[in-house]
Amino acid sequence: MTARILIVDDAEGSRRVLEAKLTAEYYQVTTAADGASALEIAAREPPDIILLDLIMPGLDGFQVCRLLKADDNLKRIPVVLLTAVDSQEARLEGFEAGADEFLSKPIDDLVLFARLRSLARLKVMIDELGEHEESSRRMGVTPMPGSRLSASGGRILVVDDDRVQAEALSEDLSVEHRPVIETDPQQALISARGPIDLAVINVASRGFDALRLVAQLRSGEHSRQAPILAVVDPKDRGRLLRALDLGVNDLLPKPFDPLELRVRVRALIRRKRYADYLRDAVAQSFEMAVIDPLTGLNNRRYMMGQLDALFERSAPGAEPVSLLMVDIDDFKRVNDTWGHVLGDDVLREVAIRLAASVRAIDLPCRFGGEEFVVVMPATRLSDAERVAERIRDAISDKVIVSGDQEIPISVSVGVSASDGPDDRPESLLRRADEALYEAKSAGRNRVVIHTPRS
Ligand code: GH3
Ligand code: MG
Ligand code: MG
Repeated sequence: MTARILIVDDAEGSRRVLEAKLTAEYYQVTTAADGASALEIAAREPPDIILLDLIMPGLDGFQVCRLLKADDNLKRIPVVLLTAVDSQEARLEGFEAGADEFLSKPIDDLVLFARLRSLARLKVMIDELGEHEESSRRMGVTPMPGSRLSASGGRILVVDDDRVQAEALSEDLSVEHRPVIETDPQQALISARGPIDLAVINVASRGFDALRLVAQLRSGEHSRQAPILAVVDPKDRGRLLRALDLGVNDLLPKPFDPLELRVRVRALIRRKRYADYLRDAVAQSFEMAVIDPLTGLNNRRYMMGQLDALFERSAPGAEPVSLLMVDIDDFKRVNDTWGHVLGDDVLREVAIRLAASVRAIDLPCRFGGEEFVVVMPATRLSDAERVAERIRDAISDKVIVSGDQEIPISVSVGVSASDGPDDRPESLLRRADEALYEAKSAGRNRVVIHTPRS
């Protein structure tokens, strides 16, 4: 997978070397020699990943990182901080500034490439979900994230065949999270079926094949969204690289520093929850595209799609599609007398009574305002009329109770049925609407069947 990468480094030599290496790997590379021009380039032509030197004259890496992460248009770009100084404090400050990764110079090429691959994958996902979320938010179908997403209180699965080491690690984690220890891979897979925010796996475990466990978690239906932090022996490069290839999200070299563990875990959990939030928002907007939020019935858009599909599938000589157009009588009076809020209660109750009066294969939906439609596949006009009468009874027979108010309601219903292979959904709807109009003219609270004028 290729990606656009911005290299920010004041030292021309290291900039050139890195640029050559990444270009050879088919990345599209741009470079900046200082923080200010990096911000300018990023704003003009946002890259997919930024490799950011820590120590630079002018704005240093921390400052650039903070500015990037404070910018709504740029904050989703993963930032990898690079430094020659292998200092714990620098790493911690880097993560606090919002950096996504941290690599020490001299950079290990294979580790760098593996990291870039995983960040590029992450970026593609965040972009897709993010765009969708933004556009649905503009359409008003996705709520803003309630509060800032928390990075604590995570359910963390700790897998290690060395119980003493697992307990030491869990103790550090339990300050902020809820770790669960597993020393057996089969048990770990069972635990991972519950919701987990992170798996910390000692891939140097001798008692079982931890890399296999990584692969199983990555492909498991419930665990595939959970990030994996691999505890590695930095001398065992073979395993370390295999772990990265299998898709672990981060590495923690042994022996580990408790503070660094905490910061890395927070970063992973924060990222996971952001991705979860985006996924939920997208799922919710898909749902809202087909569901009427007031009544929970399907909306007009969905109904039209289903109706089109029914007409396309209908075979010659098949039973017709029938359609009911149901309109509440004098609903304006309900709003005028009892107010809009009670009006909404009435609409919800009518929807419930309507849905309870039709068969499972029928499709009741809110057509708009105080109008409902029921689509009935393979239903003759005479049967459709019976269903219409049942609906009218269910709604008109019993007053609607809301709080201490009793609201009498009735509906009028127009009924039509499809007529041969040349009939169209729009025409079926229009005929039901004409019948409804007749029902209204004839005094309301009644069912009228559309009779073809021959
Ligand atoms: P008719 O018997 O001829 O159907 O009379 P009507 O008053 O029911 O019909 P009309 O089309 O004149 O008025 C429909 C009313 O429904 C007007 C509108 O304010 C109200 N309405 C539409 N959607 C909603 C809604 O979501 N909530 C509430 N409370 N009222 C709504
Ligand atoms: Mg009405
Ligand atoms: Mg109306």
